[in-house]
This record gives sequence, C-alpha cells and structure tokens, in this order.
Amino acid sequence: MIGTGYVGLVSGACFSDFGHEVVCVDKDAAKIDALHGNIMPIYEPGLAELVATNVEAGRLSFTTDLAEGVANADAVFIAVGTPSRRGDGHADLSYVFAAVREVAGALTKPAVIVTKSTVPVGTGDEVERIIAEVAPDTGITVASNPEFLREGAAISDFKRPDRVVVGAEDNRSREVLRDIYRPLSLNQSAPVLYTGRRTAELIKYAANAFLAVKITYINEIADLCECVGADVQEVARGIGLDNRIGRKFLNAGPGYGGSCFPKDTLALLQTAHDNEVPLRIVEATVQVNEGRKRAMGRKVIKAMGGEARGKRVGVLGLTFKPDTDDMRDAPSLSLIQALQDAGAVVTAYDPEGVEHARGMLSDVTFADSAYAAAEGADALVIVTEWDAFRALDLPRIAESMNDPVLVDLRNIYPPEEAARAGLKLTGIGKG
Ligand code: NAD
Repeated sequence: MIGTGYVGLVSGACFSDFGHEVVCVDKDAAKIDALHGNIMPIYEPGLAELVATNVEAGRLSFTTDLAEGVANADAVFIAVGTPSRRGDGHADLSYVFAAVREVAGALTKPAVIVTKSTVPVGTGDEVERIIAEVAPDTGITVASNPEFLREGAAISDFKRPDRVVVGAEDNRSREVLRDIYRPLSLNQSAPVLYTGRRTAELIKYAANAFLAVKITYINEIADLCECVGADVQEVARGIGLDNRIGRKFLNAGPGYGGSCFPKDTLALLQTAHDNEVPLRIVEATVQVNEGRKRAMGRKVIKAMGGEARGKRVGVLGLTFKPDTDDMRDAPSLSLIQALQDAGAVVTAYDPEGVEHARGMLSDVTFADSAYAAAEGADALVIVTEWDAFRALDLPRIAESMNDPVLVDLRNIYPPEEAARAGLKLTGIGKG
C-alpha cells in the first residue's frame, strides 16, 4: 500500500484483517515512526485497535522503504493524495505518477498496480505508459479500484461496503483483485462490480459529484424554507421517505467541504471541459456551494444584530465532519475568515481537529471545551455535529454568554429546547 494516509492506512489495516499480508509504505518518516510505536497519525475510530491486532499477528507492517515494501507483492495499491492543482482545479497527479515510477522500478515480479487514489478517467492509460517506459516487458498490469470509504466510519465502510468497483482490462488483474476482495464476497450484500478501467475511474467522480449535488439541492431548499415559513428537516424527511430519493445526504447545513467533494467536483468539471461535454448541474453545484460558505458568515452576523466588529464568537466544531481530525476544505475555515474579516474575535473548540486547525487559522483562541468557547460570547455557532455537542447543558451555555445567540448550522437543537434554555436560536431552513 503506497501512501499511508486516511485511505491507505485504513485499507491496509482492513486488508490485513482479511488475512492478507500487507506492507504500508509512506515517504513521511514521522508517520511511519509513529505507526511503529502504534501511534495513529490520523484520528479514525477503531483504527488503533485494528492496526495493533494485525501488527501483532504479523500480517501488517510499515516502512519508508518502497522497494522493501513492494518486494514479492502480488498487488501494489497506490493511495497517495490527488489534491486540486493550484490554479485550474485539475487533479494533481504528480504524487501518483512519482509513486508509479518508483514502484515499477522496484517490482521484482509481475504484479498489478492498482490506483485506489481518486484519479481522472484515463489516468490508468498514463500509468501504463509510465510502466512501459520504466519497466518494459515485465508483465506489470494496471487496474482501478476507487475507494468509497467515509472518514469517521472508514473501517465499517471498508469492511461492509455498498459495493466494490474493480476496473481492469485483463483477466489476471481481475483475478488478483477477486482474490484480495474474496473475504467480502462471503457477505452477499457487498457486490464487486467489474468494469473497464475508464468506467471505474469515472464511477468515483460521478458518485462524489452526485452526493455534492444532493447536499447542495437540500441546502437551496433550506434557503427557500426560510423565506416561506417551512421546515427543511420535515421537507427532507417527507421527500427522503420516497425510496427513489432516499433519506441520506439530505441534511441541510453550511455547505459541503472536506478532502474529497470540493476537489473531486472541480476535477470532474475539468475532465468535462477537456472533452467539451458540459456538466452544468455539477458546475452550478460548485458555484452554489462556494456562495453558501460565504453566506454562513453573513448569517451569523445577522443573528448578532448585523454588526460583528469587536464581538466575540464561539465556534463549536472545526473539522469538516464529526469523528475525524481532517481539516481539509472544512466549512469552518471560510466561516471563521468571514467573521474575522468583519471584525469579530473567534474562540473555537473541536474534540480532535485543533492540532491541524492551529496551522490553518490565525488569531483564533482554542478553548478546551464547548462551555469554555461559549463563555462571554456574543454568539455561539455549531459548525460540526460532533456527538459531544448533541447534549450540551443549554441553560448553562445561555447563562455564560454575553448575548445568548445560538446559530445551529446543523439543526441539532429543536427551537423549543433552545428557547426554554433562554437562547435565541437561528437554524438552517427553519422558516
Ligand atoms: P492523505 O494525504 O491522507 O495520504 C496520502 C499519503 O501518501 C501521505 O501520507 C503522503 O505522505 C503519502 N505519499 C505521497 N507520495 C508518496 C510516495 N511517492 N510514496 C509513499 N508515500 C507517498 O490522503 P487520503 O485522504 O488518504 O487520500 C488518498 C487518495 O484517496 C486521494 O486520491 C483521495 O481523493 C482518495 N480518497 C480519499 C478519501 C478520504 O475520505 N480521505 C475517500 C476516498 C478516496
């Protein structure tokens, strides 16, 4: 497994738990050192235990030495980052291509190189070209196996996925991947879908863009609810009970963020543009979501009476979603920036994200509890729906604030409960 980040480490640990022998490689020596001491470089529930068990069983190991990692491998998964390329939104494939070059040069027997990273359609062809250049006639094949796990529920997603997608152009690749995923086929509910490589690459982007559209759709309906006196949570339930629509991903909020949706929607648009096929729905989604993130700052300022200068705002939740420490493209970042630009002073609390947040935010005070973030504030904003924020002592919070304004961007608290506690509540899509 090349790349021991959110995807590589979870995938490596789960594959080893299936009974396979896995070596996780990363060029970041600090990550590998930490893992040698059974310290997880990321926060993911259940991961430390899973890693410890499989290391102890001798099936899982870690190294910075790629050649040692891929020696005798039947399959080498590439799980390095594919961030947005600065300037144009294309996926930056430099990490993928560098890793492939190194792997192809180091393999000692024919193996399948599998892209698990999210890569644009056609990347597998380019990987093949690199292999032909670095290690011609070695029998190395290339497959695509995009990953669909969600941070925060990554282990159960990996072990009990809705589906596994394998894109391959040759039988040997398909067979190697069939063997690797065989433990899942005992679970009838996890179909393995075999497709062409380009189709597999596109499935990943089409899935993420669809989810981004779904979130953005309910967010716009929430705006309409606010104007017409309707309740978006009830609308979401009312439409979601229709099986054709489905209940998931209909929680209105501050706009999507995270390490996947923003960059993957942009990369899909670039692919569409390069092929002169307009994807207007995805285009609109990206624009609407960007606008929404800025609008959240205005929403908080409006709740404070229209003026932010010199006001103190407490922010609960910094990570882009609960149960992760991932801060990449988190909605909290643009919200805090908007508040600071308007002259507010921000105190924030997050159960796991503070370490990463420190490097991404300036002039923010980090509190050590939700209550400390609320103390003396002119507004308290719930940005991420951590479980720890679901049962707060609201009367205590109201009492400790300078002005008891609660802006609940995740609709955790029913208006009556907030009102009983003496809080002035603004939610999302509550007209
Ligand atoms: P990450 O940044 O957490 O991890 C990438 C790791 O790769 C880093 O530790 C980096 O040091 C390492 N790396 C880079 N180049 C290397 C090389 N040449 N040799 C060895 N190690 C190298 O990224 P991530 O969040 O795990 O995402 C990886 C890929 O999976 C991306 O394409 C992403 O879009 C996709 N993906 C991510 C998620 C998610 O929830 N994070 C879900 C599905 C798919």
